[in-house]
Amino acid sequence: PGSPSLFDQHRTAAGRPLAAVSGAEIQAPLIHGGHVRYANLDYGASAPALSVVSAYLNEILPFYASVHRGAGYASQISTSVYENARAIVRDFVGGRPDDSVIFTRNTTDSLNLLAGCLPVTDGRPDGDVLYLDIEHHANLLPWQGVPHRSIVAADTIAETIDAVRAELRQGGVSLLAVTGASNVTGEILPIRALAALAHEHGARIAVDAAQLAPHRRIDITADDVDYIAFSGHKLYAPFGAGVLVGRPDWLDAGTPHLAGGGAVREARLDGVSWATGPARHEGGSPNVLGAATLARATQVIAELDQDRWHAHESAIRSFLVEGLQEIDGVTVHQIFKDTNPDTDTIGVVNFSVEGYDAGLVAAYLSAEHGVGLRDGRFCAHPLLKRLGLPSGSLRASFGVGSRLEDAERLLAGIRDLRTKGL
Ligand code: PLP
Repeated sequence: PGSPSLFDQHRTAAGRPLAAVSGAEIQAPLIHGGHVRYANLDYGASAPALSVVSAYLNEILPFYASVHRGAGYASQISTSVYENARAIVRDFVGGRPDDSVIFTRNTTDSLNLLAGCLPVTDGRPDGDVLYLDIEHHANLLPWQGVPHRSIVAADTIAETIDAVRAELRQGGVSLLAVTGASNVTGEILPIRALAALAHEHGARIAVDAAQLAPHRRIDITADDVDYIAFSGHKLYAPFGAGVLVGRPDWLDAGTPHLAGGGAVREARLDGVSWATGPARHEGGSPNVLGAATLARATQVIAELDQDRWHAHESAIRSFLVEGLQEIDGVTVHQIFKDTNPDTDTIGVVNFSVEGYDAGLVAAYLSAEHGVGLRDGRFCAHPLLKRLGLPSGSLRASFGVGSRLEDAERLLAGIRDLRTKGL
């Protein structure tokens, strides 16, 4: 169906998945009967676990036992798996040797943790957190409880950098918190330039890499990024674990994120001497399996051939965008006018279909075509409002397990909707 020439054009680069993922052959029921292979275009919400990662989970499952506190054989293995995971994740992000690697529940948790570690002098915060209006709520709401400022991103990335510079020049900013890539449109932010700008003005930078990490190599040392956060479940690992990596001084002085067992050097009834390092924030029994599988996923991702990886995702993306643009009444949304869709965008495409509620289109695609994608406001209400989409839009997102035919199924579904109606 559709445009075979366009399909053929992109087939070589994205005909087959780049890596095996769990559930790639799930059969989805159709409303009028029968089943079809589930076309998962919702990687941006949670990516399916890599098959290698599922296998690793089964391998370590029998050994999981209390970490740090047990002397038994299984506890020793569990502890080494857990501590080793920190080193693997540090390598994955290109961390500095003294960076803290703190395991959390997810990106949201990581950024909330950081919000509790902003520097304070004589009981007063040293400065404001600055962020753009394009952020996911995970990088908006944690800052509501601390002094903050927000600015509206401009029509181009170049002008947005100017706006950030102008705000930083006002002084009094301690942290610039910015997403690595938009979860709404997939556009990548120029992290290295923003880090340099922040540092020039005496601020630090925190990058929400929930979307960037599953699509691009990250090097926080080369980019001079102070803090980075991401989630396992978007990076081809199971739910339940995330991470915050960054400079230890603020983290070692900040409010312990989860007060409890393991977070203290010494607890007395009249006071506590808190631990430093990751332990300070990881009170209670940690998610060993989550951290270990997250780390395993980063190893597989790091081994991907970068050119093939980008070619795979960009072939699917161009095929999808070009196909959508050919359909009457479909609009593809973007934040910035100067984004290069081939190089500056991850595997996310945002669009709407004229005359149809996004939720209805998503339900139709699922019921009639076995295609899964996301609709709504993507936990980015300020951005959606500014894009003129107050009631939401649709988001197709994909990754290493995706095939071109998944995108083709989506296009066929939208064409069907436009010609036959509901
Ligand atoms: N930041 C971005 C850019 C995201 O896309 C998401 C999830 O959609 C998050 C943060 C929050 O991730 P989590 O729900 O794993 O905390």
